[in-house]
Amino acid sequence: MSRQPHLTSKSDPTFTAKSRSTSEIIRRVAVYLKPYKLMAFGTMACALMSLAFSLAYPHFIQSVIDGVIGKKQIGDLTAVIIGLLATFLLRDVFNSIRIRINNTFEQNVIFDMRRDVYARLQRLPAHYFDQRASGDLMTRVIEDVNSVERILIDGIEQGTIAILSIIIIPVILFQKSPLLALVAMVPIPLLAGGALWYTLTAHRRYRAQRQAASAMNALLMDNLQGVRQIKSFGQESHEDARFAGRADDLRTSSLGIMRVWALYSPAMSFATALGMGLILWVGGSQVFHGKITSGQLIAFLFYLTLFYDPIRQLHSLNQLLQAARAAGERVFDILDTPIERMDNKRRQGFPAAVCGDVVYEKVSFSYAEDKVVLQNISLHAKPGEMIALVGPTGAGKSTLVNLLPAFYEVTAGRITIDGQDISGISLESLRQQISVVSQEAFLFNGTVRENILYGKLNATEEELIAAAKAANCHEFISRLPEGYDSRVGERGVKLSVGEKQRVSIARALLKDAPILILDEATASVDTGTERLIQEALEHLMANRTSFVIAHRLSTIRKANQILVIRQGQIVEHGTHEELMTLNGLYSKLARIQNTTFIEEGFEKLSSVE
Ligand code: ADP
Repeated sequence: MSRQPHLTSKSDPTFTAKSRSTSEIIRRVAVYLKPYKLMAFGTMACALMSLAFSLAYPHFIQSVIDGVIGKKQIGDLTAVIIGLLATFLLRDVFNSIRIRINNTFEQNVIFDMRRDVYARLQRLPAHYFDQRASGDLMTRVIEDVNSVERILIDGIEQGTIAILSIIIIPVILFQKSPLLALVAMVPIPLLAGGALWYTLTAHRRYRAQRQAASAMNALLMDNLQGVRQIKSFGQESHEDARFAGRADDLRTSSLGIMRVWALYSPAMSFATALGMGLILWVGGSQVFHGKITSGQLIAFLFYLTLFYDPIRQLHSLNQLLQAARAAGERVFDILDTPIERMDNKRRQGFPAAVCGDVVYEKVSFSYAEDKVVLQNISLHAKPGEMIALVGPTGAGKSTLVNLLPAFYEVTAGRITIDGQDISGISLESLRQQISVVSQEAFLFNGTVRENILYGKLNATEEELIAAAKAANCHEFISRLPEGYDSRVGERGVKLSVGEKQRVSIARALLKDAPILILDEATASVDTGTERLIQEALEHLMANRTSFVIAHRLSTIRKANQILVIRQGQIVEHGTHEELMTLNGLYSKLARIQNTTFIEEGFEKLSSVE
């Protein structure tokens, strides 16, 4: 395959997270263990019992070799074998209990952590999502949480057992034969040095791998959502190459880890084999000279395996730890991002039912420090008025309305609703007062009923149907095979554009908020559908303060106030008649013939200018 140029995740800040130390990750993760102290204790106790019974095994071997074979006491064989099987059985029973407790423990911790990450994610401010890819965030919630949790359960348990073995078994070894025990320690510096080297170098590689996995998932998610665009532009091959590029990054970074592991793991095995070889050498000569029995030597070798195995496990544990650290950085990056402003100022609700009197006082706003998007915006929308915002693309219309539900916070000035500064109102009660109907209706993958009820979960059947009727969608819904219980598909693909719009209007009607933000649709629909939508919108706007980002010239004529916005400033402000007499930008726009959409009008104007 020819290598295609591709976006690399390495330089893309979307997928990175702040570096953190292993001890910080362990400390943070340990908090999740606290509610399950009993389970943690149970799993450790079972693991220790299992370990204790495994330690009896070499003792039985020695009895068979020295006591039965050496002393030719065949009568003792049955008793030794029964003893051996009994200890194995006990070892495995405790192991089975440990696995059961461990699994519950593990799943509970994953559940808690995943729930926390999701809850946090939902409450992060809008600008956090502007800078992230959905696929990256999904990877964090799904894969990274698992990876972090493994270090907790497997890591801590295996680690403790390994450390205990490393402390207890040398005592047994020194008791059996101090000389052989000393020889057994020869590979230890090699093993410790290797583990240290791996720890110091592995983190970078695991980070790169997590980033590459995330970048691939992000592209996959983006492409699945845009599959119709890919098909309609015939860009399948281009996307194949882009995906292959991301998958290749993942392959390369995974191979990077495996390459080092392929060297490290066998090297560690060889170091332990070296120990075994030395023991056989020195021990064999001791047996030959009658200093120890062959049973003692064989028991010693078995104990040695029990000693080296946990050391070997420590280095797999190290691998687990490095992977968990890389994943933990990404999970805690979400958990540590401050949520939408929840300071003391934002505690209160509105003192009375909101009428919808909205005032912007000298409001300025910028997304980034160096670029002012809105400048000195002042306006007053009286209850029930319709305010139309017009202006070329990028003028700042969406930004202006997005400040009202506090999706973004104003940089200067203030916004009031019924005289209350919204920066002091809790986000929950602020957003209860505002319905947003966007240009492209977004429906969740559920039934029509669920989608409409999203506006008011506890609405009655009558309220639901009344809203659907007012939104001109009751009729088409009733004709669907399963009526209100028909599924709409992902993002509502099973409905037409006009149908989706009306369902989203019904949802807003049910919410019945006094303020409405409406981004008028730009998609062309047939005149029949257009009329149904217009009617539905009129029902929705009645008695509400409505901010309409207008795209159709026909819409703005009905507005109580028209704001013409250009480069983040209100350049003209008044009713249709007032603005027509002003002879400014608006009047030129309104006089252009054969134009339905405002953006089209601005383009024509700028080409004339
Ligand atoms: P309009 O709705 O009039 O088309 P917008 O309010 O969407 O204009 O955009 C105004 C300006 O702010 C544009 O320059 C746009 O690039 C920028 N902008 C919009 N949204 C964001 C965002 N989330 N982050 C950074 N810049 C943005």
